[in-house]
Amino acid sequence: MADLIGQLVDLVGRNHVLEGDDVAARPAGWRLGPSAARAIVRPADTTQVAAVLRLCHATGQPVVTHGGRTGVVGGAVTTADDIALSLERLTEIEEVDVANRTMCVQAGVPLQVVQERADAEGLLFPQDLGARGTATIGGMVATNAGGNRVIRYGMMRDMVLGLEAVLADGTVVSSLHKVIKNNAGYDLRQLFVGSEGTLGVVTRIVLRLRPKPRSQSTALLAVPGFSAVVDLLSELEAALGGQLSVFEVMWDDYYALSALTAWRRRDAPLEPGSSPFYVLVESLGGDAEEDGERFTKALGAAHDKGLVGEAVIAHSEQERLNLWAVRDNVECLHDLDPVFLFDVSLSIGDMQDYVAEMAEGLGARWPEHRLIVFGHLGDGNLHVVVAVGDGSDTARAAVETIVYGGIEQRGGSISAEHGIGLEKRDHLHHSRSPAELALMRSLKRTLDPDGILNPGKVLDD
Ligand code: ZN
Repeated sequence: MADLIGQLVDLVGRNHVLEGDDVAARPAGWRLGPSAARAIVRPADTTQVAAVLRLCHATGQPVVTHGGRTGVVGGAVTTADDIALSLERLTEIEEVDVANRTMCVQAGVPLQVVQERADAEGLLFPQDLGARGTATIGGMVATNAGGNRVIRYGMMRDMVLGLEAVLADGTVVSSLHKVIKNNAGYDLRQLFVGSEGTLGVVTRIVLRLRPKPRSQSTALLAVPGFSAVVDLLSELEAALGGQLSVFEVMWDDYYALSALTAWRRRDAPLEPGSSPFYVLVESLGGDAEEDGERFTKALGAAHDKGLVGEAVIAHSEQERLNLWAVRDNVECLHDLDPVFLFDVSLSIGDMQDYVAEMAEGLGARWPEHRLIVFGHLGDGNLHVVVAVGDGSDTARAAVETIVYGGIEQRGGSISAEHGIGLEKRDHLHHSRSPAELALMRSLKRTLDPDGILNPGKVLDD
């Protein structure tokens, strides 16, 4: 054991093999306790990543790759027997190609740094989520992160033109293409996107950038019922001609809970409890003069059709941030601890029934339960938060049966954007057929025959 640590030190340097208290000082994910690991290893570049993996492969040493550790499904959790491979030193933006609208970055660059660099070059990296300051591009690629603008720009996999990954045995597969169209054989890059560190370690990525919008319009809307929410989405998508980039829905319970802390309630732009649904919408466009007017007109038309009650439109960046504060304030869920968090997707047409059925199932067993729902409705993605006053495994299992049962029946997914990690692994069968699971296992065996990469995540050993 000491020998392995010594060899790792030889590969990356004494200062970059952390042990003991330095390991315990790091939480393993959002709302997770301290990590346990044999060591945290911090390679400087792809060559060192490959050398570390070669050594671990030869010795059968399990490796868990760490990005910003903002995941919520335990994908980065380590045991005392694991080596954590942290890519925190791979922080260089290697190239911005303005004409081609691409950026080549190392895996450890935080999302916000990429957003700011794109902006400085007069471009947009459209991916956005609450953990932007900490989440790294490598981690977001490995988990195929979603976020707030998927409705317009897609998920992380839609923003990756090329990538470099290191396989379990240390082989470097470099596919750093900068082209949008590449039909030359199998799409290997997509094999690694969303693999959660189980098929390889992503070290460098070529990102697709977009033109920087010249207008941004944001509003918070009170919506009188669920069918109005659905109709509002269609109405705005049509009226805004493809500019709609955010359509976030908050059921009243989430809005009220979040407003308490986000705005100390009395400053809430729309009164909590005044409406069953609150929708945050945003559009990005190319005409600074006319887009605002088009946005206001679209909201006016929706109001005339009875799809919107009260509406607050942001007139400054500060007002825009104030409107976002309530949606981004997921920390407010701490007030309900212990809670169980879910991230499901299903057809929009099925959502109302699904939520009602969950409320009924939970109410039958826990009359005092809290069911909080919000999410990226335009993508068919709901975040479901359940509190039953009991955080035990037994309570969790009973809640999972209710939440996932309704998803399986409706052909939805038990993980829309958070991934599977450890937490959802045993429920994967609700969303994937035996043939799909068998193919996943066969890919895993091919790329990582000894099972050293993030063992026990996504698929059981
Ligand atoms: Zn989300």
